[in-house]
Amino acid sequence: MPEGPEIRRAADAVSVAILGKVARQVQFGLEPLKRFEADLSGQTVSSVSTRGKAMLIGFDNGLTLFSHNQLYGRWYTLPAFQYPDSERQLRIAIHTSDMSALLYSVSDIQVLDPGALQQHPFLAKLGPDVLAASTSADEVWQRLTAKPFVNRRLGAVLTDQAFVAGLGNYLRSEVLFLAGLDPELKPKECSREELARLAEAIIALPRQSYATGGITADLPRAEFLMKNGASFERARFNLFRREGLPCYRCAARIQQRKIGGQQIYVCPQCQRSADT
Ligand SMILES: [Zn+2]
Repeated sequence: MPEGPEIRRAADAVSVAILGKVARQVQFGLEPLKRFEADLSGQTVSSVSTRGKAMLIGFDNGLTLFSHNQLYGRWYTLPAFQYPDSERQLRIAIHTSDMSALLYSVSDIQVLDPGALQQHPFLAKLGPDVLAASTSADEVWQRLTAKPFVNRRLGAVLTDQAFVAGLGNYLRSEVLFLAGLDPELKPKECSREELARLAEAIIALPRQSYATGGITADLPRAEFLMKNGASFERARFNLFRREGLPCYRCAARIQQRKIGGQQIYVCPQCQRSADT
């Protein structure tokens, strides 16, 4: 379930492997993209960046390789021309003289010239990236109160990439827990203080997840749990995938619900609902 922090960490690894180096050979797994192999092979990789769940790899001839990770995409970086032991479909291979960056399973891949990059329909409608240094809690607060979002349920707003880019399913549950708000609430039903707390969580939690490799729970507690034998997957979240278990804060049973076809996790006591 790659979300903004996971894509950003993948981009960091891809940067270390290939940024500033000549891509001696670029290969695509999808037939329609093979015509770009000659355009990109021999070019220097000039940038690696992320926008929400998309990764953009720039080449010094002005072309940009766009990939959207969807649910199952996975990047690998390995010594040049080595491949992981994987049943997945190889979609992109960028080989430099010493390292290769490989993307598996993703089908949303495009090669864009500068004009197409600027007008790209997915990128054009993305909200501010939650991990970008330029995105502030104040900006997020203003968006929560803006017309397209103020009258929609928080559970739906938070993962709408037009609201902010980079929040996915686990961050949605964890952010709403931290803010103490039920996913059924709408921004217009929240107080100024509640929206400010929510905006702070939307900025802070993805950054903590990025910095820690995916921990959104209270850090000292997560470390304590892992020291005492809990797995990383068990310790990393406050409530995601903890349905039926007691809330760390109030001991109420964590509930699992569905919003937009995806699981959301809620503490019925810590998160204020519409009728309280
Ligand atoms: Zn609780």
